[in-house]
Amino acid sequence: MLNIDLTGMKAIVTGGSRGIGRQISLTLANCGADVAILYAFNAEAAREVESEIINKGKKVLIFKCNVSDEDGVKRTVDEIYAEFKKIDILVNNAGITKDNLILRLSSDEWDKVLETNLKGAFLMTKHVLRYMLKDRFGRIVNISSVVGLTGNIGQANYVSSKAGLIGLTKAIALEYGTRNINANVIAPGFIDTKMTKSLPEKIKEEFLKRVANKRIGKPEDIANVTAFLVSPLASYITGATIIIDGGLSLG
Ligand code: NDP
Repeated sequence: MLNIDLTGMKAIVTGGSRGIGRQISLTLANCGADVAILYAFNAEAAREVESEIINKGKKVLIFKCNVSDEDGVKRTVDEIYAEFKKIDILVNNAGITKDNLILRLSSDEWDKVLETNLKGAFLMTKHVLRYMLKDRFGRIVNISSVVGLTGNIGQANYVSSKAGLIGLTKAIALEYGTRNINANVIAPGFIDTKMTKSLPEKIKEEFLKRVANKRIGKPEDIANVTAFLVSPLASYITGATIIIDGGLSLG
């Protein structure tokens, strides 16, 4: 039986307080890692994940940190390193949507989504890399979306940010592969979280019709593959995009 053992590893998960990021944090902790969780507004949700991880006997840190603010990112990453003494894993998961057709999309809606989803991942990577390079080890997973590959109506800003993450990941893989730092993308399909709960029922039904596995994805479907990608089992995978969508993007 395959066993994912992350004992002794130190991880940062952005947006680790809710939805997919929450499950990634819990799964990494279940596999033995200590986890630092970054969130934007909802302290209560972050504290709930914190107690769940403490109950597992693992170390957990929570930080209110807007990933698009470079000073805050640098300060937070420095604090995490001071506490953990190393950073092995970075999961850039924080993401938002502000949907509109291009003709109605404001430049503010464009900027906010690009700043959180793409610039946030860049800033986190830049500041975490300083420490990963020192230790000559790093595993970075960027949470994109299948719409970054296929496009989507009403999501030009989101789609662009998610496609950008795929390019960013390949650049990291090429620049730092020689230092044992691997970077990969997970492109989820339709996953059951607060982000998708707000979609109208009719749109959800339309999506489900196109999913070959005929079910909505669970945060666990994403978290399990994240744990695999940061584990020794995946040490020869870098620059890859793993689609986890039950076949949604096939048809
Ligand atoms: P949720 O809306 O459930 O959670 C988003 C998380 O990101 C929260 O923890 C939130 O913190 C945090 N966050 C938002 N903005 C910032 C910021 N500026 N700085 C730091 N943290 C921030 O999202 P999901 O779990 O659904 O999505 C997680 C990722 O997966 C996103 O990148 C999303 O684009 C991607 N994805 C999701 C899919 C889905 O079907 N759900 C499909 C494809 C991709 P707070 O609560 O404090 O605001």
